[in-house]
Amino acid sequence: MTDLYRLLPEEMEKIVIELGQPRFRADQILYSLYYKFPKEISEIKQLPIQFRNELIEKGFTIGSSKESHRVESQDKETTKLLLNLNDETPIESVLMQYKPKKMFGHPRSTICVSTQVGCAMGCVFCATGQMGFERNLKAEEIVSQVIHFAKILLEKGQHITNVVFMGMGEPLANYTETLRAIQILTHPRGFGIGQRHITISTIGIVSAIEKLANEKLQIGLAISLHAPNDKLRQMLVPTAGQDSVKELIKSGKNYFLTTGRRVTFEYALIEGVNDTPEIAEELALLLKDNGSHINLIPLNPTAGDFSRPSRRRVMEFERILYNGGINCTVRVEKGTEISAACGQLRTDILEKYNNTVN
Ligand code: SAH
Ligand code: SF4
Repeated sequence: MTDLYRLLPEEMEKIVIELGQPRFRADQILYSLYYKFPKEISEIKQLPIQFRNELIEKGFTIGSSKESHRVESQDKETTKLLLNLNDETPIESVLMQYKPKKMFGHPRSTICVSTQVGCAMGCVFCATGQMGFERNLKAEEIVSQVIHFAKILLEKGQHITNVVFMGMGEPLANYTETLRAIQILTHPRGFGIGQRHITISTIGIVSAIEKLANEKLQIGLAISLHAPNDKLRQMLVPTAGQDSVKELIKSGKNYFLTTGRRVTFEYALIEGVNDTPEIAEELALLLKDNGSHINLIPLNPTAGDFSRPSRRRVMEFERILYNGGINCTVRVEKGTEISAACGQLRTDILEKYNNTVN
């Protein structure tokens, strides 16, 4: 079985030709896949019925996930989808919409996708990390999360503007499938979103960041730093191992030098753990003259015995970084009441809908 959403346009062409069809049939399929979002091959109306049947007979399919629940936040700006994969594994994806006035005049519809079921990195404050690792998602399972939302938005006359790899899992620990999904999503004959509208968030696997830099893509990179020194970081990210804070910063710099894209460092602020003024000073010194941007994420308390710092504490941390010459923002909170913040996917909804998800 091969899902058509797994194929790059060049691969689609090869298959069509091997099946004795003219090359333009590939374009007909691609048009349908990325503009009409069919649920199954029989819905690709652009193709002759005979060829649709042949594709089905040859083991091609569409649909590596099915929507099982949809939850909208009260302000309607955040939508969370619980999707069931074909092996019945549930995963979550989130749509976050930003009104034009908040985003300098441009409306934004950002999809946050998952790349793994669970995660092996074990970050102590992360619900996904505490679940443990179940399996990698296949490229088509990543793409299908975007397609579900593209279809929902199409019905409202809207479209996806950004995709962030910040859902469940560590994208660079599922490198090949993540990269294939990105190639499909950004291919002008595929989903066609600009590379600059995609961001990968990684816990920071140095060797994989180097590999990614050498792909010379224009995608954005966010490295989850969470601490200015190795001792504290090891406590929060027990699998950080060889990848020291210094090396992470070096790999971020190298990513910028190779791709021209500036790296963002993410920093989940946890009360009494990594949010003190002294730690802010240490972080400011560490990132001084680095040209990077730091995104502070006040913790969503979902795992372990950790709390979110007060607003005042967050602002104080931000002020110290700012005074230290660091380019810094605090993440806009979205969808917390429906547990849709990135990094806290699935666990909550599974508890809520345990009786209906089967
Ligand atoms: N594995 C990748 C991407 C998924 S997590 C990574 O760690 O970067 C996406 C972001 O959500 C990361 O920056 C992560 O640190 C953050 N995150 C995870 N759990 C969180 C929580 N409970 N509160 C706030 N941010 C969290
Ligand atoms: Fe995995 Fe990212 Fe969660 Fe860490 S924060 S456990 S890397 S998903």
